[in-house]
Amino acid sequence: MIPGFSDFLGLGRINILMTNGTNISSKLIREIAMKPGVVFELSIDGCTYESNYLRTPVNAQFEKAMASLKVASSTAPVQVNCVLTPGSITSLEKFCDHLIMLKDRYPLKLIPFPVRPFRGMSISRFKLGKSDLKVIERLSTEDYEQYREILPPKAYLRGLIEFIKNGKQGHACHIPKLSLFIRAGGTVLWCGCGGSRTYGNIDDSLQLRFTRQFEGYEPCCADCYTPYEILNLYLSGQITDLELMEIPAYCDTMVMEYLREVRRRVEQDVP
Ligand code: SF4
Repeated sequence: MIPGFSDFLGLGRINILMTNGTNISSKLIREIAMKPGVVFELSIDGCTYESNYLRTPVNAQFEKAMASLKVASSTAPVQVNCVLTPGSITSLEKFCDHLIMLKDRYPLKLIPFPVRPFRGMSISRFKLGKSDLKVIERLSTEDYEQYREILPPKAYLRGLIEFIKNGKQGHACHIPKLSLFIRAGGTVLWCGCGGSRTYGNIDDSLQLRFTRQFEGYEPCCADCYTPYEILNLYLSGQITDLELMEIPAYCDTMVMEYLREVRRRVEQDVP
């Protein structure tokens, strides 16, 4: 952890701390949770050693991640970002049971999404098969009510199934339009989720204006289905205000006001 980082938490309406849970103490989690608007985003793929193996190959790391999840979910809203691999998807329902058990008075959501090729790596060993799809299909239909509290909206799960079946994304994405991704050093990225396009440095206000007006589809978008897809589904009217507010990262009246305004502009095709 970078010394002093927690001073920045609490400055925004919603302040998200992303971690895989292995490098943060329970004491620090509790301290951070006391700051206003804190949400923990934990990158954890399952509640068994095998399912989280790619993130925590050492058992002690796995135990630490599980302990962090337990403490975080009892102190603040939590979003669990779960990468689906053949190793994690087989115990996805078990993970749902685990999260339902952990769910305290704070929102707790599990957002599953597939592996993306990273820097040209092959993802063939992470490819999901038909039996894997059945797990998500069950969660999005007959088992949905049982796990509704901790699952994302049905539209997200349906989109995930289609994406895995087709092997690619097919629509333009609004994320670059409503986000500002800044890398260390001040470089402004077209999108933090992919591509190499940049818009110069944070000091260049003209470039920044252009970034915020841009909306589109790049080659890197074809293999992108991430938790951000929830926003695209909201802006295209497939997720309701109530459903979106159940997601910890958007559970704030001012954030929702802003997103409603963006949706209105998208509907009216106003840049
Ligand atoms: S599809 Fe992914 S990579 Fe493309 S703009 Fe959206 S979030 Fe970024």
